[in-house]
Amino acid sequence: MEKSNLSRRSFFKFAVAAAAIVPFIAKATKSFAADACPATAPAGKALASPTEGMGKTLQYVLDAKTAKSPKYKAGSKCGSCKFYNVAKADGGYAPCTMMGMKYVTNCGWCTSFAAKV
Ligand code: SF4
Repeated sequence: MEKSNLSRRSFFKFAVAAAAIVPFIAKATKSFAADACPATAPAGKALASPTEGMGKTLQYVLDAKTAKSPKYKAGSKCGSCKFYNVAKADGGYAPCTMMGMKYVTNCGWCTSFAAKV
């Protein structure tokens, strides 16, 4: 009888602990997905170009690690920039205020980078 109560108590402790940790795992997984570099651009969206318009002027690159500007600081990228409109994100891309609301990849970078606060 005592052993049965102990097992039931252990089970409920485990269930409560598991229920408490699931939201954290879900949040971490979602956060990781948001940070992943997109493999393809979203269809039907106007994209900023590294070779034309504001993209060229601001030395926009699709992969921040390839930035040649002395302004680039390791770790900075569109996904952590205050001009990246994450509320309208689509497949790892989002419109950028500095690019006339054209879509930029979350792994990109340009000389107007400003960290979110
Ligand atoms: S302003 Fe920010 S979000 Fe826009 S292209 Fe430059 S680094 Fe990326």
